[in-house]
Amino acid sequence: MVDRVGRPLTSLRVSVTDRCNMRCHYCMPEDDYVWLPRASLLTYEEMARLVAVFATLGVRKVRLTGGEPLLRKDLATLVAMLQREHRLHDLALTTNGTLLAGEAERLRRAGLDRITVSLDTLRPERLERFAKSGRHAEIVAGIRAARRAGFERLKINSVVIRGYNDDELADLIGFGRAEGAEIRFIEYMDVGGATRWSRDQVVPRSEILERLGRTYGSIAAVAHDSSAPAARFRLADGTEFGIIASVTAPFCAACDRSRVTADGTWFLCLYAGAGVDLRQPVRGGATDAELAATITAAWHARADRGAEQRLALPVRGALYPIDGLRADPHREMHTRGG
Ligand code: SF4
Repeated sequence: MVDRVGRPLTSLRVSVTDRCNMRCHYCMPEDDYVWLPRASLLTYEEMARLVAVFATLGVRKVRLTGGEPLLRKDLATLVAMLQREHRLHDLALTTNGTLLAGEAERLRRAGLDRITVSLDTLRPERLERFAKSGRHAEIVAGIRAARRAGFERLKINSVVIRGYNDDELADLIGFGRAEGAEIRFIEYMDVGGATRWSRDQVVPRSEILERLGRTYGSIAAVAHDSSAPAARFRLADGTEFGIIASVTAPFCAACDRSRVTADGTWFLCLYAGAGVDLRQPVRGGATDAELAATITAAWHARADRGAEQRLALPVRGALYPIDGLRADPHREMHTRGG
């Protein structure tokens, strides 16, 4: 099944909660938020049913997101349910890592394939200032626990922001190498709660490479799957890393991913203004065939290429002002699953 410009529906991000226990500047910089009503949150059974329907339509990769997904109780139970869906080839989790140390083994036993931990700085005092979190040590402990639990293909996502952590690029690579994890640098994006975004804070991929080259010498591009968001690179010593250039080199042309929020709203693009309500039919007695028909019709009509359109704007600021976000919490990245 492909959309209007030939992109398949392969990758699904499932947000299990809009809550988070950190307040990163690029995602949740405000003092208070409008949350999804608790009664609207899908149960694990409802999520697993939706994933099964998506799998019949071609989805092969599922990533659990949030908010912080490990705030949802017994996440391993959902992992075990999804792991039984034999059509999935890849079941992954993105987490801020603060609660990972206590959960990594259970998640592994339940059948989770891969983990990505978000960590933007190696300096605890910076994390306190930037994310209002004093839990740097817990995040590092979570990364180590994940390795011990057998997660071999561990990744660390670092959003790069000028004036905050752009002096830590080489150190982050060194940290990833020491911990057996691959670093992926992400250009600071103007989505959702990034109400304080400005273009001059974005460190483009070309500059990231140039800065790393000063420390590590020659850097070679590595062939990668064209639908994967990260372009991959290799240092002379064999260390590989990725860069997700969502701002300066968007990859909409090959985008096969979409997002279901914790309340069952399906967004066909990270920048989409509205989503498809799948909770109402799930709770209203729709059959799997009816759900599949709704999903198919929406995907066939999809022509989204949000990041490319943003790139073409002559003047660019934050996507939404704070009032716009409060009017509809689905616009928040912590609701949409990043
Ligand atoms: S902006 Fe939308 S279409 Fe482009 S890569 Fe992101 S989710 Fe896909």
